[in-house]
Amino acid sequence: LAMASSTVVEVDIGGKLPKVASGKVRDLFAVDEETLLFIASDRISAYDVVMENGIPGKGALLTQMSVYWFQYLKDHIPTLQTHFISRSLPKALESLDRPLYEALGPRSMQVRRLEIVPIESIVRGYITGSAWSEYKKSGTVHGITLPSGLVEGQKLPTPLWTPSTKAEAGAKDENISPQRARALIGDEKVAADVERLSLEIYLVAAARAEETGIVLADTKFEFGLDRANGNAVVLVDEVLTSDSSRFWPKDTWEAHLGKAQPSFDKQFLRDWLTSNGLKGKEGVKVPDDIVEQTAQKYKEACDMLTGKNA
Ligand code: ATP
Ligand code: MG
Repeated sequence: LAMASSTVVEVDIGGKLPKVASGKVRDLFAVDEETLLFIASDRISAYDVVMENGIPGKGALLTQMSVYWFQYLKDHIPTLQTHFISRSLPKALESLDRPLYEALGPRSMQVRRLEIVPIESIVRGYITGSAWSEYKKSGTVHGITLPSGLVEGQKLPTPLWTPSTKAEAGAKDENISPQRARALIGDEKVAADVERLSLEIYLVAAARAEETGIVLADTKFEFGLDRANGNAVVLVDEVLTSDSSRFWPKDTWEAHLGKAQPSFDKQFLRDWLTSNGLKGKEGVKVPDDIVEQTAQKYKEACDMLTGKNA
């Protein structure tokens, strides 16, 4: 249980930099006017509620996956701008105690501080989750009419841009139509760039994931706006991780069509919460075996995607 004791639920940087924000998983600190230290804790949320205990190793795995993808995407989409600057810790932290400093390194990155486009830019290549619920009721996904007769887990005729709102802390993100997302973004060109880039990144990433034996069922991006540079749209936040994506094993996908797919992400935790009547409840302590299995799934996805098993 040495691992569990090093699980970081509260990020501590010894007050060396001002805290800018604290999300469900990350804490953001100001390095300077233009730069943030972006630290992934081991916290885990499901259905927009943060669990009492964390998942050992999760923050480092999320950072490793994001950094891998920022590099991969830059190599494959040369025009793409991302917020990633470096994995090094800022000078201001060098006076920290070694154990603290060393615990921060693997979970941190320095990023460009940007204004955030106020939607969650989801792309779905397969129908599942809330999209499947909506389709069963109305034959639509985020208001988009789809052919009849689709089954759960099926590949969509073409990947869809299916945004959601970016709710304030404590509230739940809500699925919205592309038209409504464009209105929320306000600027037509920015909205068009967000949609185009999201679909392009999804296609590039889904093809890469497939090579490693993973189906990228759906994923969520966030974008920033570089106001000083003609409103350039920049890929920010975490990217293509087990928190922001549904990853399914490719070799068993077909056998599970029409029912829930096994997955390398927090679906496992979601299912445990649901079957124990804890969905959406505050203050849940996740039992050790569920923590352990969730940690394993995150590790497996990271190893497969970043080529450790290749
Ligand atoms: P919330 O902040 O609503 O709790 P969350 O739980 O997804 O959302 P985290 O992932 O824990 O949040 O924290 C990341 C936060 O940092 C998000 O609010 C995201 O919009 C913001 N963010 C990501 N990249 C940048 C950036 N380059 N500049 C400024 N903010 C950013
Ligand atoms: Mg987030």
